[in-house]
Amino acid sequence: MAYANVIVDISVDKLDKTFQYRIPEELENRIKPGVQVDIPFGNRRLTGYVVEVTDTPEFDETRIKPLFGIHGGSVPMESQLIALAAWIRKNYGSTMNQALKAVLPIRRKTKEIEKRKILLNKSREEAARLLVLYEEKHYTAKARLLRELLQSGGNPLDYTYAVGQLRLTAATIRSLEKDGIITIVSSTHYRNPVSHLEQKEYCLTLNENQRQVTEAILKDIREGKAQTYLLKGVTGSGKTEVYMELIAHVIAGGKQAIVLIPEIALTYQTVMRFYNRFGDRVSIMNSRLSQGERYDQYERAKAGDIDIMIGPRSALFAPFANLGLIIIDEEHENSYKSETAPCYHARNVAIERAKMCHAAVVLGSATPSVESYYQAQMGNYHLLELNERVQKKPLPDCEIVDLREELKLGNRSILSERLQELMEERLKNHEQIMLFLNRRGISSFISCRSCGNVVKCPHCDVSLSQHEGNRLVCHYCGYETIMPKVCPSCGSKYLGGFKAGTQKIEMLVQKRFPEARILRMDYDSTRTKDSYEKILKTFSHHEADILIGTQMIVKGHDFADVTLVGVLAADMSLHVPDFHAAERTFQLLTQAVGRAGRGNRPGQAVIQTYDPEHFALQAAAKQDYEAFYRQEIAYRELMHYPPVWNLLLISCAGSEEAETGKAAAVIAKLLQDRILPEVSKMGRILLVGPSDASIAKINDIYRKVIYMKGEDYQALVSAKDALEPYFRENKAFSHVTIQFNFNPTSGF
Ligand code: ADP
Ligand code: ZN
Ligand code: ZN
Repeated sequence: MAYANVIVDISVDKLDKTFQYRIPEELENRIKPGVQVDIPFGNRRLTGYVVEVTDTPEFDETRIKPLFGIHGGSVPMESQLIALAAWIRKNYGSTMNQALKAVLPIRRKTKEIEKRKILLNKSREEAARLLVLYEEKHYTAKARLLRELLQSGGNPLDYTYAVGQLRLTAATIRSLEKDGIITIVSSTHYRNPVSHLEQKEYCLTLNENQRQVTEAILKDIREGKAQTYLLKGVTGSGKTEVYMELIAHVIAGGKQAIVLIPEIALTYQTVMRFYNRFGDRVSIMNSRLSQGERYDQYERAKAGDIDIMIGPRSALFAPFANLGLIIIDEEHENSYKSETAPCYHARNVAIERAKMCHAAVVLGSATPSVESYYQAQMGNYHLLELNERVQKKPLPDCEIVDLREELKLGNRSILSERLQELMEERLKNHEQIMLFLNRRGISSFISCRSCGNVVKCPHCDVSLSQHEGNRLVCHYCGYETIMPKVCPSCGSKYLGGFKAGTQKIEMLVQKRFPEARILRMDYDSTRTKDSYEKILKTFSHHEADILIGTQMIVKGHDFADVTLVGVLAADMSLHVPDFHAAERTFQLLTQAVGRAGRGNRPGQAVIQTYDPEHFALQAAAKQDYEAFYRQEIAYRELMHYPPVWNLLLISCAGSEEAETGKAAAVIAKLLQDRILPEVSKMGRILLVGPSDASIAKINDIYRKVIYMKGEDYQALVSAKDALEPYFRENKAFSHVTIQFNFNPTSGF
């Protein structure tokens, strides 16, 4: 017997609430997740969506009613998204409910936002007379409002502005309304996050390379052969212009487009470029939008008010009825992988969604992920390249400086002689400099010089980082404390910070170049809203000479006056326990180097390192992707790592260490004894663990991990499917949270 779990209302936060119906035998083949069905509900007939098909009845079988049938008429947008959720659940492992919540925006049953406006109900002369009267009588609040209305020249005033900035009480406003002096009008309206932008004239013609790439994709689209494209284009080669050209064609054909951009690169600058070309047909989603605003964007997309949705990972689920194109810019970015269940990768989900509606997917990057480049080599993605910068601007010259040699020569500064020399020259010429510190906080931990104890977060298994104002901060849970006077372990007073974080570097650089105007962009300096944009703006207006920062500064910003990029300690990111370390280092350095010489003057870069021979650094200095890829893929192959093989990380998390460890041991044994003998027929599988996660405790929760390396992705999916029933039955798992992560990009 087959049963369908059905949700009746997806507009409220009740996705957990499914109702189970029996599937009539004749419909068994046609009922799938996403299908809209008619169901008996009390004594009413309602429609709902199938979210799951199962053979396990949730309660007494005889009391489960059969569903009436498949709902006729058009297929609603939600059906596609629910089917996508089912695919995500299946391929990434999570509950159906978690998958639905990732895919559908939930409207809470709050009142619809109304925007109230205050209008002046009197002529200007009359209002002016009243104002004099109020002032005489010291009705200061009423006078403030009237003055503001007079000054606004007949424009209505925002109610919230009146209450907020003008500090008026609701009673005052009401009393003016009652006297007939003002009117309050309200309208429910969609909140449009880009409505305050001003559209500029757009004019630009693609160069020959851009045109060829664009045409190759459009030709496939015209012939109904849209597929997945990997657009590999060096920094500044004009990829964004290619995206916009493609979008223009797709829209002209009556379809819509989704553009994924990592949140950190989703700046005013980027949004403006799309807005200048497409105006009001563009909307954005980002984490700064309120839940209500997000929901509105969803509604606007569904209603056909917009054609383009720009945003991070979650924008992928914009409910466009006729989706023609999905673009993933900076496709190598880690943030496209969700780290909470369901741990999906936006790239693969995009490809699946595109398949459902015959849309094209364009993955763009100057430094494609090893994964995507491998897929292109295997013929699964169509590789397209832009190997030259627009208008043939040269790529920057890059030198590698060996820091060990510097030390031998007696230079203990964080700036090598060569970098100092170049910086001096740039400052003299009024050109700008970027200094990139690879990774935040990593070098700013506190340790005891007597006993070697490192000061750690009491809730997490990580060292605390030193911040401004003698604070120590945990970057995992936000725990904060002040710097202890003596070592918590041995009482020694020789506690000290190690090497330099960005703040320390700022101090040292300022000391070396007292005249230079320096900006710093890191965790501390960007904590307040808008501070990020402000720093970028200041720098792009050349109101500072040097920008010092972490990864945040290397992402897609175009500063025309930057002619020198210094990478201070390039190898830092090589020494993290993650097989992506070399890939990530190569990407960061290539992007960082690519920041130089974007304007009219050629750029230069200096990579300082203790490991000058490392292939990732060598390749980044030459901006040679192929050289990097050849070495890296050989290593992945040798180690059975993705993308050649696949990796499934099973993590167990619980507040009791012993219990958590036991759950992990039970899983490993189940896999070894019962599951792997069966599923490894599909392809070889290697089991690793259980062991502590590389960060064994976060927020007082202990974490144990088990890995499986598998030749075949679906074999790993089958292993996950075979494990799941045990979690419901076995008591060992009752207080432990189990999470699956396929091809994880971090968290080892
Ligand atoms: P990418 O996305 O590959 O880094 P962009 O699309 O941002 O490259 O282009 C880099 C710069 O060159 C931008 O300022 C852009 O406006 C400009 N540009 C791109 N294509 C052209 C073109 N065909 N003609 C003139 N300028 C262009
Ligand atoms: Zn000590
Ligand atoms: Zn912590």
